[in-house]
Amino acid sequence: MKVFFINKKHIIINIILVILIVLLIFLYFSFKNSNTLAIELSKNSFISSENIEKVSELTKSDEKIAYLTFDDGPSKVTVRILDILKEENVKATFFVIGKHVEKYPEIVKKAYEDGHYIANHGYDHDNSKLYKNSESFKEEIIKTDEAIGDAIGIQNYCSHIFRFPNGFMSPGNKSKKKEAVKLLAEMNYTYIDWNCLNNDSMKKYSKEQLLNNLKKSAKNKGSLVVLMHDTKDVSDSSAILKESIEYLRQEGYEFKNFYDLLD
Ligand SMILES: [Zn+2]
Repeated sequence: MKVFFINKKHIIINIILVILIVLLIFLYFSFKNSNTLAIELSKNSFISSENIEKVSELTKSDEKIAYLTFDDGPSKVTVRILDILKEENVKATFFVIGKHVEKYPEIVKKAYEDGHYIANHGYDHDNSKLYKNSESFKEEIIKTDEAIGDAIGIQNYCSHIFRFPNGFMSPGNKSKKKEAVKLLAEMNYTYIDWNCLNNDSMKKYSKEQLLNNLKKSAKNKGSLVVLMHDTKDVSDSSAILKESIEYLRQEGYEFKNFYDLLD
């Protein structure tokens, strides 16, 4: 009877120990996740010249880091992309279009709460509006950040990172884009293009072709800023996202988003 009593006590102690261990593991992972959650960006936050330098030097690094970026959303496709990113535990960056944010605010909120960076791609994705004059350029950016702020519940949201529609490197509007870079600096923004893509916006590619495009484009490169689109207009990058992540992991890549550049 005594032995039984001691054993029972031991069992209880063991159960308590197991509960404590599970609790500690849970606390560890919640803390770990909270570190990767979005830092609050607002007009009061500041992107330093060192950070601007880091962003502009990003693709010159030999480090095997991949920054997945999705342009032109949000759309219904974004939901599928968010699910895959969560499954794969990858944090990405979304360059959203302001008018689309107003259409799907709940999707932007989810992306933000999942720890993805919500960056600015202009309100209309229309170069005639964007480059009309300095005021309209600034307005395209401010209106987009206001839409993001409304969606995620942060007043005075400032995304700090802009991507030019069609990219800064595209041939059109060269002198206007140079002027725009000065305006961006005044507004405490920087911009980023990409150095890797699967060409999902070019035409209707099959899954295999999209993955091959990515492999070719990533070849012999260090850090990657990967351009994809979360719209349903042309090729569907969400259909190949899981395989693309697996491929980059096999190649030794670690995934980060732009929050890691702003700390
Ligand atoms: Zn775009």
